[in-house]
Amino acid sequence: MLSVDEAVERIFDAVSPLDAERVTLTDALGRVVAEAVIADIDNPAFDNSAVDGFAVRHADCRSASLISPVRLRCLGEVTAGAAASVALTEDGCVRVMTGAPIPSGADAMVMIEDSRVSGDSVEILSAPALGDHIRRQGNDIRTGDTVLAPGTRIGAAEVAMMAAMGCSQPCCYRRPRVAVFSTGDELVPIDACPGPGQIRDSNRHTLEALVREACADVVMSRHLPDSLEVTRDAFRAAAQVADVIVTSGGVSVGDRDFVKPALGELGTLDFWRVRMKPGKPLAMGRIGQALFMGLPGNPVSTMVTFELFVRPALVRMQGDPQPYRPVVTALLTSDIEHTPGRQEYVRSTVSSSVGAGLAPPGLVATPVG
Ligand code: AMP
Ligand code: MG
Repeated sequence: MLSVDEAVERIFDAVSPLDAERVTLTDALGRVVAEAVIADIDNPAFDNSAVDGFAVRHADCRSASLISPVRLRCLGEVTAGAAASVALTEDGCVRVMTGAPIPSGADAMVMIEDSRVSGDSVEILSAPALGDHIRRQGNDIRTGDTVLAPGTRIGAAEVAMMAAMGCSQPCCYRRPRVAVFSTGDELVPIDACPGPGQIRDSNRHTLEALVREACADVVMSRHLPDSLEVTRDAFRAAAQVADVIVTSGGVSVGDRDFVKPALGELGTLDFWRVRMKPGKPLAMGRIGQALFMGLPGNPVSTMVTFELFVRPALVRMQGDPQPYRPVVTALLTSDIEHTPGRQEYVRSTVSSSVGAGLAPPGLVATPVG
């Protein structure tokens, strides 16, 4: 019997990143960067104001206070999107809008709230420090910086960064294509009312959702009756279009379990027993180029084995160097029974312990049964 870690290791050895392709920024969301994104401009691209106010020479305003304001002459204004055409001279100031360029000669911004306008002149009511409210060119990013390294998962913040750097067609790993099958003569469609001995085919929908949550695409989804011929034909068709084939049920050794015989005829089969609960034996293998993962049919086992074995494979195919989720420690709110010798997975809700009087505060896990 394999440990969970040994099983995951075997899966890692069996998969490698898929090929890369250029996609639109919209389609990049959820994918992994394959080619570094390099800054083509500084960010900010020019010195600009963080506030609405007046660009000044801070030396002119040293004595400014509410009781004795410093009076400056307003030389013009710069609005967002315009170039700063006015240069600042002694005892002058320029009105500058948020995000607009700082005029040459200015070295601080005074917020509009710290000023009083009277005709052509402006009273400065508070002395600014050198550089106040100025966002300096290149302060965040310099031209040539690597802003996104290969292996980075693209979320909204990464989309923002690529957009800012003009990267409209990032090079990303391809999304894995997955075929999903449920098996069993007892299954009926979910919108049907199950008759005696029948159950709704919930697993197929669970698997579709899990695949999509893992940022992969479902390219085929079917229910298979307990028939060797139908199962074999379906697997053969799936191997033509899918990178991964995932099934639920039919992997045991019963007379009506046809997943393994079909896999044995079409490809290679590796049958695993893993020291874990829940999770019956898994059928792992290949049909042509496609990775095959036969999961147990019990809905909880299906989900847990997907999370432990299928998801890391999909994530690795996407070029993510870190296929594991973060692991956290939580305090159980009730006892659980545990049989030593196998890794156990208990469904729980996890929440913050704030208010539970724990020091230091952390997470609490409540088994849901
Ligand atoms: P099997 O491994 O095919 O014997 O399936 C084990 C058990 O898992 C079955 O007796 C069902 O109760 C359950 N099961 C199998 N497939 C599904 C499915 N698609 N949806 C919900 N439950 C299922
Ligand atoms: Mg079955």
